[in-house]
Amino acid sequence: MARQIILCADCEGTHRQLHDAVAAIERADIAVNFFFVGETARSNPGIVRAVAERHQVESHTMTHTPLRGLQPEAQHREIMTGKDQVEQIIGRPTHGFRAPCHAIDRRTVAILNDEGFVFDVSGLYYRYDMGDVAEIRPTWFREWMPLYGRVGLTPRFAFRIFRLLFRLFDPLVIPLHPQYTALSPRHLDAFVEFTRWARDAGGEFVLIRDHLAARNHAYDPAVPITPRVHAIH
Ligand SMILES: [Zn+2]
Repeated sequence: MARQIILCADCEGTHRQLHDAVAAIERADIAVNFFFVGETARSNPGIVRAVAERHQVESHTMTHTPLRGLQPEAQHREIMTGKDQVEQIIGRPTHGFRAPCHAIDRRTVAILNDEGFVFDVSGLYYRYDMGDVAEIRPTWFREWMPLYGRVGLTPRFAFRIFRLLFRLFDPLVIPLHPQYTALSPRHLDAFVEFTRWARDAGGEFVLIRDHLAARNHAYDPAVPITPRVHAIH
């Protein structure tokens, strides 16, 4: 069986970064799980709707304010206004959550359970009993390109670390941040090159809904998504 790669795009960048990252994803012809900040979605409704036709779209709070330390009411507002905003634009319910900076606490977990979230892809630094929420844990490695650039690491090299992780983790749960990956055409090319390498190496980029379905998770989204398949040029 193919090894699964769950690519999660955390979208809080500018319009240009978002546009360029989505164009690279289309060029790579892969299925991606998008997590939109509500404010970003509101400023880019056309991109969000286009993406929702062939990828999974979920929420990433309203303003990207770190949740830990917020009181329950403020956390609830951040999480639910972000979810509502994304749902208004795509016209269908969302089921998943990703916290800013992977930082959640027990109050976040309680809200996700109370509000019927199906899964969470936040927990990188902290471990909680997630209750009814399916936990998908991201890998520790991030494409922090501005930081790597400062220490002389090229984008190609950074994406090569994902190649190593691909050998170790199945599913491999990795991020894509438009504000890092869409820094320049060179960064975007390195990303597309990684996706092609991964598929040649037997990897399959999957939507979380399909990943959960394969684990027999009771996940019954209202509207099926049919990823568009087109030729790679
Ligand atoms: Zn984020």
